[in-house]
Amino acid sequence: MKSHFKLFITMLLLISHFIGVSASPLSQKDLDSAATLRDKALEHNEAWSILESLTTEVGPRMGGTAGDKAAVIWAEKKLKSLGFDKVWKEPFQFASWHRGIETAEITAPFPQKLIITALGGSGSTPKGGLNAEIIHFKTYQEMMKAPANSIEGKIVFISNRMTRAINGAGYGPAVAARRNGAVDAGKMGALAILIRSIGTDNHRIAHTGAMQMSDVHETIPAAALSNPDADMLERQLDRKLPVKVALEITARRGDIYTSYNVIGQYNGSSKPQEHILIGGHLDSWDLGTGAIDDGAGVAITTAAAKMIIDHAERPKRSIRVVLWGSEEFGLIGAKAYREAHLEDAENMIISSESDFGAGLIYEINSRVNHSSLSTIAQIASVLAPLNIRLGHNNGGGGPDLAPWGKDPVAFFRLSQDGSDYFDLHHTADDTLDKVVPEHLSQNVAAWTSVIYLAAQSDSYFAPEATSK
Ligand code: ZN
Ligand code: ZN
Repeated sequence: MKSHFKLFITMLLLISHFIGVSASPLSQKDLDSAATLRDKALEHNEAWSILESLTTEVGPRMGGTAGDKAAVIWAEKKLKSLGFDKVWKEPFQFASWHRGIETAEITAPFPQKLIITALGGSGSTPKGGLNAEIIHFKTYQEMMKAPANSIEGKIVFISNRMTRAINGAGYGPAVAARRNGAVDAGKMGALAILIRSIGTDNHRIAHTGAMQMSDVHETIPAAALSNPDADMLERQLDRKLPVKVALEITARRGDIYTSYNVIGQYNGSSKPQEHILIGGHLDSWDLGTGAIDDGAGVAITTAAAKMIIDHAERPKRSIRVVLWGSEEFGLIGAKAYREAHLEDAENMIISSESDFGAGLIYEINSRVNHSSLSTIAQIASVLAPLNIRLGHNNGGGGPDLAPWGKDPVAFFRLSQDGSDYFDLHHTADDTLDKVVPEHLSQNVAAWTSVIYLAAQSDSYFAPEATSK
């Protein structure tokens, strides 16, 4: 009998631990206010106006360019005009890179022009370009297994295809060709590298993106082919005749450049030092106007904060919007932010970035301690009418929060339908017309609900141990 009782108590303790009885729940009043804010956000088009303004008045804003400078000025002005209590910017530095001429054509066996774009960080061809034989690999891993003397003096071509998935799962396996291909091909004596674009479309536009740069040498010229051009090059290679390509790329590394994370804070009423951190990255690539990557994230999170600013009562905790700089060149602003704010990590109550376009949100994920899972479930109940389900507790916070991955800080993630995201990602086609205003509003409604409730809650979400 006694042992049964002991077992019962142990079970009860275990259950209460997992369902989070120890966290103080959100009040019905808070949940009702969040629902009101959610419905109001659905009718507003603040995010659309922000995105329209950014893509029209600034446009392309690659780190280290005049567009980057204009974006920082735009962001400070925009956040001030929206009524944040404090707007400031925090500097960081990086080596800039500039695109130049980029042309390619097959010269043998069947001459045809190729549509290419240089990868961020690419070196340049000798004056007047180069003309060399192609050596073809299906994947980056296949190239790494090849004997160096088979590659020396040739142009490497890696033709791996990215597969389409709602959560972008095809990106990770494909992107090694872009990230690491040039440095490793260069070490093996390749003259240049061409890759099939890391994208899911079949349009005749190429996808740029960052590659790892060599610390010691100038990197070999590196470019992505549009997917139809990559297919055609493969068909020529299938003929088993030597295929030669003429390539000219005049990209170059530039000076050390100072850019900024631009930050706006709306202060909480009773615990202003504690903040909910959200945002998107302000920089984009230079080819399009960065509407989906990541103007949408900037607009969604800024508009969500604006919904809270316009609400009758201030929530207990502050809302901090960070518009990250130079994400595309390797999370440079994000790393600087962590350095500068490490000592204040315990006040980062829960954080997230929106950086996956403007598709509909279908799931909320988190990385919080077990006793806060009940609060996340309460938050999810307010999202349910937006067709958003409760997901797992093994989430990250988005690219610009990745530097905090090993720190005990909490994340939430509002997962978007990114089925089409990689059709446009890093291309000249990343423009405002691709964004559906109603989808943007659904995003804002979800973000508004989450940040309001996290700011009102008494939960401390920080995970017990960092497993990631
Ligand atoms: Zn992005
Ligand atoms: Zn990007």
